[in-house]
Amino acid sequence: MKNIAKKANTMYLLEKYNIKATKKFGQNFLIDLNVIQKIVACTPIDQQTCVIEIGPGIGALTEQLSYQAGHVVSYEIDTRLKDVLNESLSECLNVDIIFQDFLTVDLKKIVADYKKQYTKVSIVANLPYYITSDILEHIITSQADIDSLHVMVQKEVALKLTDPSYRSPLTLMIESVGKSSLDMTISQNVFSPAPRVDSAILSIVFEKTYNPLLTKVLKCAFTQKRKTIYNNLKSLFLDKTEEILNACDIDLKKRPEELKIEDYQKLTHYL
Ligand code: SAM
Repeated sequence: MKNIAKKANTMYLLEKYNIKATKKFGQNFLIDLNVIQKIVACTPIDQQTCVIEIGPGIGALTEQLSYQAGHVVSYEIDTRLKDVLNESLSECLNVDIIFQDFLTVDLKKIVADYKKQYTKVSIVANLPYYITSDILEHIITSQADIDSLHVMVQKEVALKLTDPSYRSPLTLMIESVGKSSLDMTISQNVFSPAPRVDSAILSIVFEKTYNPLLTKVLKCAFTQKRKTIYNNLKSLFLDKTEEILNACDIDLKKRPEELKIEDYQKLTHYL
């Protein structure tokens, strides 16, 4: 089907297959073709790019991605969408739909396979908001050779994740692999059902491979945000904590959000 996101087409598909969006899977379908085309146009994907999409829904974004990318592979958790996707994307021959929870995908392996055929691999998605952080963490910590990511998230979340003065384990993980930006804001009116908040496109350009030891240090450092870094890290470095913090030139009384990514990277050397 051409232009799935046009309101009449979306309504036709949802009615024909009796699909009701479910909160359980964070389903808010995009119903504005212009907005979808703008989202795709602001990504660097081209015919040499393989796009990995999370949650195609009824295929509105997938279709537009298929026109710009060399190949699209979309992971969908909701098997109720099988028949509708078979019909809506029947003409998009460069699209593969895989019914699998994205959080269980071995991203490093599949990206390595796609890199044999395509120069670039990018992730593009209108994310299910209930697992935004889990998905971003899954992608970053996978160490997959991804070039860039462009995902729709809640505007508040995109603002936090791109605010250089805000630090959380996730922002520090992102900072350790590349550069993030907020590329575009999107009104809640272009979804069905409409979410309660506005959305934004968060992009990450990957420059470095993730160091898995960082997860251990960050999770421990942020166990209790109000505690000092010394108190939080005691469970990891035991009686060596003071010595290690001194060797890294880190003030024992600092709170976890006061440390920079470089400080955390130094700490990983002591694991
Ligand atoms: N891409 C469509 C669009 O823009 O209209 C749908 C986006 S909707 C916000 C999120 C989609 O992610 C839904 O289709 C939902 O079923 C799917 N989803 C939710 N959790 C998932 C998971 N763990 N793995 C794969 N897909 C998931």
